[in-house]
Amino acid sequence: MKTIPVANPGASYHAHKDELDRAVARVLASGWYIMGHEVQQFEEEFASFCGASECISTGSGTDALVLILRALGIGPGDAVVTVSHTAVATVAAVDLVGARPVLVDVDPVSFTMSPDHLEETLASSSGLPIRAIIPVNLYGRAADLERIARLGERYGAWVIEDCAQAHGATYEGRGVGTAGIAGAFSFYPTKNLGALGDGGAVITSNEGLAARCRLIKQYGWRTRYISETRGMNTRLDELQAAVLRVKLGYLRAANERRQAIARVYREVARPYLTHPEPAPGSDHVFHQYVVQVDARDELRSHLSANGIDTAILYPVPIHRQAGYADRVTLGPGGLPATERLCGRIVSLPIYPEMSDADVMKVVGALSTFGQ
Ligand SMILES: *Cc1c(COP(=O)(O)O)cnc(C)c1O
Repeated sequence: MKTIPVANPGASYHAHKDELDRAVARVLASGWYIMGHEVQQFEEEFASFCGASECISTGSGTDALVLILRALGIGPGDAVVTVSHTAVATVAAVDLVGARPVLVDVDPVSFTMSPDHLEETLASSSGLPIRAIIPVNLYGRAADLERIARLGERYGAWVIEDCAQAHGATYEGRGVGTAGIAGAFSFYPTKNLGALGDGGAVITSNEGLAARCRLIKQYGWRTRYISETRGMNTRLDELQAAVLRVKLGYLRAANERRQAIARVYREVARPYLTHPEPAPGSDHVFHQYVVQVDARDELRSHLSANGIDTAILYPVPIHRQAGYADRVTLGPGGLPATERLCGRIVSLPIYPEMSDADVMKVVGALSTFGQ
């Protein structure tokens, strides 16, 4: 029996194989592999897709966050508020620049940053100055960006969106990544816009910030070999840029297919199953389709016996992971919603190339659970 995977980057390659092979061959033959025509074109095309004026490509999504933080001058002695229910990359980026991550709870319905807990944390903060807030547009759904942006303004903290799971998602009609000073994207192969390797990008409409990012991303060079400031090395390569240009052309259709699969899953009304709530006023692009269930292990075994893979994003909140537990501060009252949901969530298979037959197999297996 062929197992249905949770994500399937290989299927996305095969769906556009001829075009991708041609793009790769074009780069190989060009003799130019770093920061050339493909990267420049991709940056323009992706900025325009997102509704931002500038895009600065990077080697990964983690690097995109690090680059924004460094370009804003955030480092040791500063605090940055984000969530514990996210990819470790979000918190790792804050830690990498030497700032202190302050973690707040998520809303139990949207699974994204709770503006209430954020406000409480900002109001009660007496420690290091909070210089930035990083809401995560998790699973393909925008966080409550309007309230978060207002709180950022009121407390003088930059809002930086982590958009690694939300390419093409919107909030009140605007693309994610444009509510604050900048947005960070990852092009890890399983993301909604995935490369055939690593990649990432910063988007911003702030020219000064864009210029700082461009300097820092390559050793602080404006002129080759002359470092005008301290920098790093984080570059998207020409091959990945060429691949991403092809895939960007199919991103809207791919997100629509994800949304169609989500609508079919949502029809499965079973008392044991809690579906993701529709997100009013925003376009959810279902990077993950995450249900909540009490008997999670039993459901996963049942699906597995029916040839269906599942995943848990994320099983352990970051403040409970050995690598970061003593490097983060929690908002007042702790993170009860985060603690509760991580024991109940499970991701069902969802990817654009998933066949209707496979979607119905998942629906069938969900419907027979517990019988
Ligand atoms: C994937 C991901 C990242 C990091 O991306 P990399 O390209 O793997 O560094 C950051 N934040 C979130 C929410 C992610 O899902």
